[in-house]
Amino acid sequence: MSIAKCPICESPAIDYELSPDIGSFNCSRCGPFNITPKGNHLLAKVRANPEIIGNISGYIFAHLGIVVDEEKATFLLSLRSLSISEKANLLFQFITKRHPKIGATFYPPDFAVESAITQINIAGSVGTREKFYSDGLALTGRPDEFYANCDKNLKWLSCASISDGPELKFIVRKILIEERRYLEVAGQDRQLSITPKGWDYLSNNRDNASQSTTAFVAMWFHNKMDHIYNNAIYQSISDAGFTPSRIDGVHHNNRIDDEIKVRIKECKFLVADFTGWRGGVYFEAGFALGLGKPVIWTVKKTYLRNIHFDVRQYAFITWTENDLPAFRKQLLDRIKLTIGKGPKAL
Ligand SMILES: [Zn+2]
Repeated sequence: MSIAKCPICESPAIDYELSPDIGSFNCSRCGPFNITPKGNHLLAKVRANPEIIGNISGYIFAHLGIVVDEEKATFLLSLRSLSISEKANLLFQFITKRHPKIGATFYPPDFAVESAITQINIAGSVGTREKFYSDGLALTGRPDEFYANCDKNLKWLSCASISDGPELKFIVRKILIEERRYLEVAGQDRQLSITPKGWDYLSNNRDNASQSTTAFVAMWFHNKMDHIYNNAIYQSISDAGFTPSRIDGVHHNNRIDDEIKVRIKECKFLVADFTGWRGGVYFEAGFALGLGKPVIWTVKKTYLRNIHFDVRQYAFITWTENDLPAFRKQLLDRIKLTIGKGPKAL
């Protein structure tokens, strides 16, 4: 384990060096992910484009632990950029998660990112290419402290798919402070505080989960299932106008953590696929039902027979590998029928 450059955004990342075939990183900006040599090769072309890096880094932050293979890399390169207003919303929500106390003051995110980037530049200017940061750190202090500082501060970029420091500064200063007045300068050292108007905006949006545009997907984390997700479930949800949200990859295998619960709380509905009869899927579907969220039930045909009797009453959509287009259409129809069309529907 050492601190290296993130192969996507070039920020300091813990390199787990687990296997020669697949890179495993915890990037201080993007978060944890895995990457294959082919995925790495494809993404290498865009490293000079801050906007595309911002999009990809933001996607990884929202999908912790994904495996970036050739197919996923192609998908990541096709991500659309969020509008400045969408970025401002996401950033503001992240600010309120980190500073949830009314009246609290905190250092502005743009200052935090600027200081982290300065530190990275100092460390990088004296490092060798491969172990860039580890070498450069002799000058800047302890590697773990350096990483922890970046880890805390660079999430201000990835939480809202923000390209770089200047864009973050624009969103904080021009949009959240000057235009929307959700933030104001308060306290010492030009610290910020959330205004009553900011809290109002938040409570209106929090109380109204029907405004949510995401669909949480609960399913078996098995590589056999990835193409079912990519070619059917993901597509149906997107075609219906919603944003699919799935936590996948090794870091979350068989774990129900706070991140999953928060995402279920924030989603508009949940798609639960019971292939593999995973305990986690039963839990997540039950958790969503308990919160009053609609659940759409799906399963591979051969797994339908042994579904637990407690959930057998629900109308499962069944699928087979040979006919994914039919599954995709059925799921799309079910979403439109029971949930309606999402805001991104064509
Ligand atoms: Zn990164």
